[in-house]
Amino acid sequence: TGLLDGKVAVISGAASPRGIGLATARLFAEHGARVAILDLDGAAAVQAAGSIGPGHIGVACNVADRDACQKAAEAVVAALGKVDVLINNAGITQPVKTLEIDQASWDRILDVNLRGVLYLSQALIPYMKQQGAGSIACMSSVSAQRGGGILGGPHYSAAKAGVLGLAKAMAREFGPDNIRVNCVTPGLIQTDITTGKLSDQQKAEIAGGVPLNRLGEAREIAGAYLFLASELSSYITGAVIDVNGGMLIH
Ligand code: NAD
Repeated sequence: TGLLDGKVAVISGAASPRGIGLATARLFAEHGARVAILDLDGAAAVQAAGSIGPGHIGVACNVADRDACQKAAEAVVAALGKVDVLINNAGITQPVKTLEIDQASWDRILDVNLRGVLYLSQALIPYMKQQGAGSIACMSSVSAQRGGGILGGPHYSAAKAGVLGLAKAMAREFGPDNIRVNCVTPGLIQTDITTGKLSDQQKAEIAGGVPLNRLGEAREIAGAYLFLASELSSYITGAVIDVNGGMLIH
């Protein structure tokens, strides 16, 4: 039997074929969940949902748009009946330095990575409150803990650090409703987010600084999300799970 039998899970940013979101959707489906994949391109989301099996749905949703999050939440509940799990996974990055960050870049990075976590959580928490249970996991990054050092600029570090504070505050507020909120902080994971932005040489250097001596795979983040989504973590809230091959051992 699966760890998520009978559960409905919403995963944002899960249409990208090699991404962490779709790897998570696939693993959740293997564990018995019905999954709603939310992403910018509705057709891509529908196609991604179809690729993990029958009974899953894809919904267009820009997480930085409050109305879009509300509409997506309504569509998910209309189609799947409820929401037990929310994975706030959508994110974008940009490799720039502090003095190069203009207003539009700051807004874009903060909007998707941080504001999006608030808006999608606001849209789905009422359904979790109603049923007296829920688990939310949010995507942060080792960049939040180390001040960058991989790919994202200072605005990305700030956004992902903001996610840690927002998630802990929500964990505190909604604990009495039996809604748990946790974060994952991955190191460098092989997805398309780094395509064209990191050379093989740079990746090898990063891997050299990792005790496990390699980069991570999308499915290895999905495993942490599965743990946080399932009842295995029923007494864990406000936690931050490092999935980085030991990069932060000190
Ligand atoms: P990815 O680019 O494959 O996936 C990101 C997904 O988010 C894409 O499907 C994209 O369409 C979607 N998206 C972008 N903006 C959106 C918006 N406004 N609304 C809804 N969806 C949106 O990259 P990934 O590596 O799988 O990234 C997933 C998450 O993991 C991101 O939050 C990223 O910051 C984070 N992360 C990645 C790494 C890594 O090394 N790959 C490390 C730490 C954290």
